[in-house]
Amino acid sequence: MDKGFNHNLDHCLKCSICHTQCPVISFYLSFPGPKQLGPELERLRLARGEKEFSEIDNVLSYCMNCKRCDIACPHGVKPSYYNLKNKVNMKVGPSEKFRNWILAHNVWWGKMASIIPGFSNFALHFPLIKFGMGVIGIANRNLPAYNKQKFKLKTEEKTKKALYYPGCFATFNEPAIIQSTINILESCGYQVKLAPVDCCGTPMLTNALFNETREIAGKNTALFLKYIEKGYKIVTTCSSCGLSLKQEYGDILLNEEAKILASHVWDLFELLEEEESLPFTKDKEKIDKAFYHVPCHLKAQGTGIPAAKILKEFSVKELIVEDSYCCGIAGTYGFKKEKHNLSLQIGSSLFKAIKESSPSLVITDCGTCKVQIFDGTGISVKHPALLLNEYLN
Ligand code: SF4
Ligand code: SF4
Repeated sequence: MDKGFNHNLDHCLKCSICHTQCPVISFYLSFPGPKQLGPELERLRLARGEKEFSEIDNVLSYCMNCKRCDIACPHGVKPSYYNLKNKVNMKVGPSEKFRNWILAHNVWWGKMASIIPGFSNFALHFPLIKFGMGVIGIANRNLPAYNKQKFKLKTEEKTKKALYYPGCFATFNEPAIIQSTINILESCGYQVKLAPVDCCGTPMLTNALFNETREIAGKNTALFLKYIEKGYKIVTTCSSCGLSLKQEYGDILLNEEAKILASHVWDLFELLEEEESLPFTKDKEKIDKAFYHVPCHLKAQGTGIPAAKILKEFSVKELIVEDSYCCGIAGTYGFKKEKHNLSLQIGSSLFKAIKESSPSLVITDCGTCKVQIFDGTGISVKHPALLLNEYLN
């Protein structure tokens, strides 16, 4: 195990605060929770003098990696890290392993499916394909549609430079987020480039491919550092991509390069907050009421909710900002057959809060949160960059 985290174990005082914030425990009583699965299990392993666990019960797979336990811990312990690391040694059958491997490599399927998106979207609704997905353990639920778009980027040299890393969902499913972000950054005076990087590694990390993630994290970090040396800021609009670059790479690589990368990564709205003046109009009619769901991985970045202030100033009259609920989808988690219902149960409090406030629009930064919220409420969901693009001067 990495030395950095051995030390961290001693900070756990068994206070159980992390348990109170775990969204899984309330709906799945067999789930032992972050304290037991994280620091307690690690202590047990150390006491036994084992290098790694030889086999861990599959119940660990129910950890969603939402990071709510990490955020809650008053002593800086990261139970989610131990869960991710130990998933490698989980007792998993061959069919579950295969299904998890398929979901972990969603970037490959996204690349293929977005070549001819119309055909892929049709095929994904085909009963035989759905049946096949069911056989390998993928839930029968709405899948986000694939889309393709050409991007318009200005080529003039500017002193302010941004390397935009959009992530899989925007690249393969909602490319309009990419063009909106380019427009916003360019309007703020940035020279924008799109990052030549595929997956951030999060789907692999949560699906027990720890070593593969470490490899990807190393490659991506080296590539991003080349741009950082040329004066680029790394900009993300996906909460999970942002969190992996800012925190998870550091946790799994434990090197200086990951620390340098983390200090140069900005969520789009975190960056906009630094601008002296914003390029949005106040002359356009605002939306009456919107509900902003703060994704768990944005909350875990510890930057506050920078988009909320900007949305209130320019585009929404009444913005209900809610960061206390997990939507339950957790990337690939909610697409797994055995976890689909649980994921909807976890999201049920959020769905209720949204329906009770009857907004005309839900706003969220995460692509899979969008899928889950729409399934749970039927209300239209938009990324904040898409909405603010409509308010550009
Ligand atoms: S990990 Fe943190 S919150 Fe959880 S029991 Fe230990 S000290 Fe308490
Ligand atoms: S990461 Fe989330 S689901 Fe996993 S133990 Fe922590 S709070 Fe629970």
